Amino acid sequence: MSSVKVECVVNPGTLLGEGPVWEESDQKLLFVDIAGQKIHRWSPSTNQIESVGTDDTVGFAVPRRSGGYVAGVGRSMVAVDWSTQKTTTLAKVDEDKPNNRLNDGKVDPAGRLLAGTMSKDDSFGGNKPGSLFSLTSDLTLTKLQGQVDISNGMDWSLDQSTMFYIDSLSLSVDAFDYDMVTGQLGNRRVVYRMKEGEGLPDGMTLDADGRLWVACYNGGRVLNIDPATGVRLQTISLPATKTTSCCFGGPDYSDLYVTSASLGLSQSEIKQQPDAGATFRVRGLGVKGRPSHSFAG
Ligand code: CA
Repeated sequence: MSSVKVECVVNPGTLLGEGPVWEESDQKLLFVDIAGQKIHRWSPSTNQIESVGTDDTVGFAVPRRSGGYVAGVGRSMVAVDWSTQKTTTLAKVDEDKPNNRLNDGKVDPAGRLLAGTMSKDDSFGGNKPGSLFSLTSDLTLTKLQGQVDISNGMDWSLDQSTMFYIDSLSLSVDAFDYDMVTGQLGNRRVVYRMKEGEGLPDGMTLDADGRLWVACYNGGRVLNIDPATGVRLQTISLPATKTTSCCFGGPDYSDLYVTSASLGLSQSEIKQQPDAGATFRVRGLGVKGRPSHSFAG
């Protein structure tokens, strides 16, 4: 695919870039810096960036129908008023697990917010301290899944009957049957197992043809996977090894935005990948994405 072009588009000194979301209403890209404790909003047309700081790690930020955003700050899901920078707690998770924090989150087509947790410790190796939660518009919190190591990417199939999900340390992309009426999960199965050198599966998005794009942490790439067959269709290489998540955006949703991290790289690695931490834009893929959903609460 010689027409595929990767460019570094924005890097406000990001440590751990994550959770890109395209906001159709004002044509801006929302993303977070988890370790830098910031929510960023960037306009491709003006190249201006606005930022709001948080008082703890911020795992995700998603638009809210009633205005502003909902963010995962520490172990709290909070409403963020962008103009005043004020936050209001909507729900708390893992209150008995002070070493946990919220990680990736996404809104389902019905307007529920799904978000998972992980341990802040580096030594979590396999004891699965995390969980996956959902928050409905009336602020009812439900634990959908326990025994998770690093709760990460999710998205829903075109017919809305399947939720794709990544627990990074399982080294697989999984699928659940998803009941869009009740929000319940069932029948977990593996869609794709990571191959040698591909790194850890992290954030992901589904395109308008129903194929997955999976950012690979420590893999420096995004994998394009057909979930119907489990076949890897394409690999996009990025000039940063810690690629973390991706979403489609732009006026017609044909640009793939990919976030990355600089945190955890050695000095020599930073010299080799000076754009680590940046958000990249991939053009020429020949596919389009779908609009994001806003939290209904
Ligand atoms: Ca992630």
